[in-house]
Amino acid sequence: MRHQSLRQQLTLLVSVLCLALMCILAAGAAYIAQSRVRQIVMHHAAQEAALTASILDRGMFERYREARNLAAMPPLRTVWSGDPAEIRRVLEQVRASYPDYAWIGYATPDGIVRAATHGMLEGQSVEARPWFQDGLKGPAVGDVHEAKLLAKLLGPSPDNEPFRFVDVAAPVRDAEGRVAGVIGVHLSWTWADEARRAILCGQARLTGKSIWILSGDGTMLLGPDTGSKPFSDDEIRTMRQSKAGAFEDQGAPEAMLTGFAVAEGYRDYPGLNWIIVSRQPDSIAFAATKGIVWTILGLGCGIALVGLICTLFIAKRVTRPLRAIIEAANKIGRDPTISQLPRVSGSLEIVQLSAALRSLLRRAGAAEQQVVATSSQHVKDVTALRHLAETDALSGLFNRRGFGLLAEDAFGLYKRYERPLAVLILDIDFFKKVNDTYGHAAGDEAIRAIGAALTKTLRASDKVARFGGEEFVVLVHEVDASGIITVAQNLRRTIETLPIAYQEHQLSVTISIGGAMARQEDRDIQDVIERADDALYKAKAAGRNRVMIDGLQIQLATAVA
Ligand code: GH3
Ligand code: MG
Ligand code: MG
Repeated sequence: MRHQSLRQQLTLLVSVLCLALMCILAAGAAYIAQSRVRQIVMHHAAQEAALTASILDRGMFERYREARNLAAMPPLRTVWSGDPAEIRRVLEQVRASYPDYAWIGYATPDGIVRAATHGMLEGQSVEARPWFQDGLKGPAVGDVHEAKLLAKLLGPSPDNEPFRFVDVAAPVRDAEGRVAGVIGVHLSWTWADEARRAILCGQARLTGKSIWILSGDGTMLLGPDTGSKPFSDDEIRTMRQSKAGAFEDQGAPEAMLTGFAVAEGYRDYPGLNWIIVSRQPDSIAFAATKGIVWTILGLGCGIALVGLICTLFIAKRVTRPLRAIIEAANKIGRDPTISQLPRVSGSLEIVQLSAALRSLLRRAGAAEQQVVATSSQHVKDVTALRHLAETDALSGLFNRRGFGLLAEDAFGLYKRYERPLAVLILDIDFFKKVNDTYGHAAGDEAIRAIGAALTKTLRASDKVARFGGEEFVVLVHEVDASGIITVAQNLRRTIETLPIAYQEHQLSVTISIGGAMARQEDRDIQDVIERADDALYKAKAAGRNRVMIDGLQIQLATAVA
């Protein structure tokens, strides 16, 4: 991140933020939508189960009522004991009134079928059939069962499945109230299937919904795997207890939102406690919520893209003045035509930054000028100080220090390249007398005049110095033994003939000179000076106003000169 531009960072930040927000929004919407949809679908499934239960109960109630009416109708009392053909006609008429009646028969108390629709089972015994046994006692309903005696007579069923019936039975009583026979009705179980289909409105495939009918003990009566038990006994018990409701069935291969209702009868029809179950797979129920998530994500991506483009544009605008500042700053100090940053427009902070940087540059410029002025003054001061430190105040000649620096350099050159070098030491003769006679100031004047005369007489390359007192030292370059003699004599003569004016007096002095040529065995210039000093001593001893060169057996006395 450190090396990425502000623009890239901003763009990345906004994109990540947008996407993260959209993901959170989509996940939140999906969660809310899913829990709402779960509630609605489960409520709907429970309602559907209850509706189916109610339709089945009412249908059964109608058949139950019809059987009882038929058995109890007084005008028919004579019919039941009369001609079987007459009974059959009555029964056929009733059967025709409702297409799902598979068989209606009338059996005498001994269990022999006296008459029945289509004459089926007439003369046969149904004594062992539960409906007959129950019917002898009173109005009764019998749970779904496969056709026993009628199976062969009815022929193959349309779906090749065995015929299944629900039984309704009612006793026929004579005038005295004794049981004269039993009317038995077999209601085809396809009736329930049709009721179920009516509820599903033919949309089972589309909605994935299914409605099952289970017996009171949980056995599948209508639905896949007839006779199986799709729920555990515990679940069945819970459903029976709560009568109606919904739950999410995780036990199935696919999670199912499941509503249920128990058919408990209608009015005086006692009901068979069927459990009606309405189911829909989670995947289909929640398909719409997934659509919502994808829609939000799609919209979110669109918004993120717009945000990204806007950010790129904004970031470009924000960074443009910064780039101008960077560009100009990079040229300052390189391009002589640019010395200040441009005045930029933009957001408040950028304008403030630009102003602050411009002001900083102005202050830095002023400080730089001050530093330049101060440092040139320093150079001047140092030069002056060095001059002072290396100069003799009285004569203006080099002092011991100034002379030492030059002499060491020259001695180094001599040692390395054997450039000839010589030192002369000059001392004013009887100088004490001058002081004594004319005063110290006159002596000073004489020192000054002699210094000036020496400088004037020597070549510019030869250096003269005063070490203090009335003694001078001369460094002579590029000179051989005869040359040094000439130089020394020349100096001696110059001073001898030099008129020194002090007030009304005309002074005149002589000097003695000792000289020495540098030698390779000399360790430093001091060795040369020492030998020159020895020679001076000899010159003084020999009578003054003369030149004595170390190593040369000459005494250049005044007379000789
Ligand atoms: P000689 O050298 O010939 O032996 O005799 P001299 O009298 O010159 O003796 P010496 O060199 O020993 O004496 C130096 C005198 O120079 C001593 C002092 O009074 C005088 N002197 C030294 N420095 C100065 C100075 O700066 N100004 C003045 N006016 N006199 C100085
Ligand atoms: Mg002296
Ligand atoms: Mg002297």
